Amino acid sequence: MVADKADVNANEKNDKLDVLKSTQTVVKKALDKLGYPNEVYELLKEPIRMMTVRIPVRMDDDSIKIFTGFRAQHNDAVGPTKGGVRFHPNVSEKEVKALSIWMSLKAGIVDLPYGGGKGGIVCDPREMSFRELEGISRGYVRAISQIVGPTKDIPAPDVFTNSQIMAWMMDEYSRIDEFNNPGFITGKPLVLGGSHGRESATAKGVTICIEEAAKKKGIQIEGARVVVQGFGNAGSFLAKFMHDKGANVVGISDAQGALYDPNGLDIEYLLDRRDSFGTVTNLFKNTISNKELLELDCDILVPAAIENQITEDNADKIKASIVVEAANGPTTIDATRMLSERGILLVPDVLASAGGVTVSYFEWVQNNQGYYWTEEEVEEKLYQVIVKGFDNVYRTAETRRVDMRLAAYMVGVRKMAEASRFRGWV
Ligand code: GLU
Repeated sequence: MVADKADVNANEKNDKLDVLKSTQTVVKKALDKLGYPNEVYELLKEPIRMMTVRIPVRMDDDSIKIFTGFRAQHNDAVGPTKGGVRFHPNVSEKEVKALSIWMSLKAGIVDLPYGGGKGGIVCDPREMSFRELEGISRGYVRAISQIVGPTKDIPAPDVFTNSQIMAWMMDEYSRIDEFNNPGFITGKPLVLGGSHGRESATAKGVTICIEEAAKKKGIQIEGARVVVQGFGNAGSFLAKFMHDKGANVVGISDAQGALYDPNGLDIEYLLDRRDSFGTVTNLFKNTISNKELLELDCDILVPAAIENQITEDNADKIKASIVVEAANGPTTIDATRMLSERGILLVPDVLASAGGVTVSYFEWVQNNQGYYWTEEEVEEKLYQVIVKGFDNVYRTAETRRVDMRLAAYMVGVRKMAEASRFRGWV
């Protein structure tokens, strides 16, 4: 049977947007560049462990709804696996797998003693009550309790989860374990053993990467025109930090639309009016689309929303000279090539968004030692870690003549590959 040409094209397009496939492609390239044999790739191309669970929750109308959840543990050769849990209707097994590989790479780049993990539940928290969210959070922990723990796999917040959800999860785990176990999860409220600076850590890490990238490009942050796609945890804090540093935040967006003002948006007002899911553009009449937002005239573009936003369809229309990925997976492989051919400096997700897991690591260390640090200590340590990661990736890109994404994967995968070999796995 001859496949229809339209089908072949559609399949090719789907493959390009398949985050797991494209992650595997770059991991393979990185391992080849580093000279590792194929069995190392065979080990690292998928998580070592993947659990799918069904979570029954009694809803407010007294009916029982069954939700599907996942937990992926990519590789634990270096240390316990670590990574967030997202609550989103589009969560899929493939996405969670790719996200767990990205967590391994992040840990490698910023040199944390972890491998990557990730979890997700297929649900829409925007349509659930507080009580239902508590039920699903506790149910998820009961379902995965055997494979997680402070020395096995440590969850954290991700898309549409927050410190309250971490608190319920920690409480449920502590009940199962029969003692208080704060190091089981990070991103907790301060009073339950959370760390100063954790909530804004991802945006802090992105800000540090923007500053380093701007130095390389000779761009002053003060007065620079910045566009931020997404107004969730990362995007909103980032817009604030850039605004505080004197940058001109000319565009922001949420899932419903985008706002643009060439003279700079009133960030304080927008932060004040956003809801807890980061929605704010619905309050305005003059909005533009997310597509238009990405193509705005600006110096620094920060995709801080979801996957596959910069693709071969719009990469040639991006006007920024620096793109810093605060979201996981916003740029496809083709678009990465197109941006780097055009001389745009791309700081990839696995480096730019590593601030969150870095401060999560600090939180876990503080929980383990029972001694807590000041906000200044956390910030200073985070700064050192991110700058070192940035320098390593930038230098690798220059010396090995590869784009920043491949360089980041090379730096990120090395420790994990070496640890797996020392352990005699491959
Ligand atoms: N979910 C965040 C990420 O994608 C943070 C993970 C963590 O803190 O462990 O990096």
